[in-house]
Amino acid sequence: MAGQQAEQTIHVGGEWRDAVSRATREILDPADAKPFAVVAEGDERDADAAVEAARRAFDEGPWPRTPTADRAALLRRVADLLVRDREELGLLESRDAGKTVEEGRVDIDCVADAFRYFADLVVGEGGGRVVDAGTDEVHSVVVHEPVGVCTMITPWNYPLLQASWKIAPALAAGNTFVVKPSEITPLTTVALIRLLAEAGLPAGVANIVTGPGQSVGARLAEHPGVDLVSFTGGLVSGTKVGQAAAAGVKKVALELGGKNPNVVFADACATEEGFDTAVDQALNAAFIHSGQVCSAGSRLIVEESVRERFVAELARRAARIRLGRGTEDGVECGPLVSEQQREKTEAYVASALAEGAVLRSGGKRPEPSDVRPAAGYFYEPTVLDQCHRDMKVVREEVFGPVLTVETFRTEDEAVALANDTEYGLAGAVWTADAGRARRVAGRLRHGTVWINDFHPYLPQAEWGGFGKSGVGRELGPAGLAEYRETKHVYQNLAPKPVRWFAG
Ligand code: NAD
Repeated sequence: MAGQQAEQTIHVGGEWRDAVSRATREILDPADAKPFAVVAEGDERDADAAVEAARRAFDEGPWPRTPTADRAALLRRVADLLVRDREELGLLESRDAGKTVEEGRVDIDCVADAFRYFADLVVGEGGGRVVDAGTDEVHSVVVHEPVGVCTMITPWNYPLLQASWKIAPALAAGNTFVVKPSEITPLTTVALIRLLAEAGLPAGVANIVTGPGQSVGARLAEHPGVDLVSFTGGLVSGTKVGQAAAAGVKKVALELGGKNPNVVFADACATEEGFDTAVDQALNAAFIHSGQVCSAGSRLIVEESVRERFVAELARRAARIRLGRGTEDGVECGPLVSEQQREKTEAYVASALAEGAVLRSGGKRPEPSDVRPAAGYFYEPTVLDQCHRDMKVVREEVFGPVLTVETFRTEDEAVALANDTEYGLAGAVWTADAGRARRVAGRLRHGTVWINDFHPYLPQAEWGGFGKSGVGRELGPAGLAEYRETKHVYQNLAPKPVRWFAG
């Protein structure tokens, strides 16, 4: 977009700025690869300035010492502002990340819910925990305090949702922060920072630096003025962030990828209704937001006796998913976020076919149409049958619309396949047998297990992964605890000498 003014998207100490270098970046609409916004492209110098501002606001500003009820009231005002701007933000998320507008709107609702949830959680807590020291002469209490300066690094698939799962608890607990959204989808996070100021958050508490991971993100992970680093993204960058944070002995939370099993027992398909529901949800599990979901059910593990019928119906429905620009009426699924993501997906499909997978639907770029500009990063929902655990496509996170199919004969085999991953974010079991449902759910080594469902989460329930899906939890009470230090205050009400030393 020739001549478009760059927006000032770096917010430091209450002021909107250009990058120190004056560099800018065009933000592309993945549906047509055309730029529709220009943002500041920060670097390490912008990150340093933002951390310093957050440090000052934490050490000297009012926010960490603001009463809990007032902090909660501000979070609720933010939720109201999100509801007010729902249409605009939902549309922005859709254009930036390539999802449908309806998905964008749902994201904004979930963001507002997160702010409300953490507001309710902190006001409902009461004070510290009094500890019985075994004598009336001691008053001992355990209290929680904010960690300090938090930095947050977020991905492109659910840009505002992932940011809000960090920002809402961090603020509820009284921290200050610097957030770095994905360089390709920064717009709604910038908009949220504006809403926080409108809601009355003091200057310096919320800072944002738009820019690349290798410079801004890396600096935010290692900066000596930072107390906690919270990262959501892929395993490769998450490992680097974890190492940088560990070198500075910072607290660190990592929300990484997943290779999530969707286990379907034949008994779940015994009725027409059960079969229809399991197929419908397997489709949703794998292809919502073109599979660019950390918890995508990208591994279908189906009982051998129903495989052929199940996969045939799944492939038929996958081929009918209406792909197109997310802002068009009737479109069910948008493009991938970038050409890089599409090429990565194509490489995984090619490797699967070379390793013996059988293509049942998709496997290519769709023909352009009225709702699918030729330049957009579209890729057809793809079902790969006859997959096995040694294939690269089964072991690694594709983060695209690719579903692999494996089969089992026994419950033990189903569990073994479902757990055969270095990740452990989420998984589902479909069965009409309540005992089996509980048994299998108990044996799955994943942070979220759905029984006869896929994808829902609750703000009051923890989210996070086993294994290489991460460290720590978001949402729920543990999602707030991440942003707190615990302090024991021991008060001697009748001090006297201990005479350990004769003196
Ligand atoms: P990514 O790792 O490429 O980038 C994530 C963020 O890290 C971006 O802001 C990026 O700029 C930054 N970054 C990159 N290299 C960095 C470095 N060396 N130091 C510091 N920061 C750096 O991930 P992505 O492609 O944006 O997102 C997709 C990934 O996110 C997938 O693996 C997905 O599973 C994961 N994800 C996980 C969850 C969850 O809740 N577990 C949620 C959403 C996405």
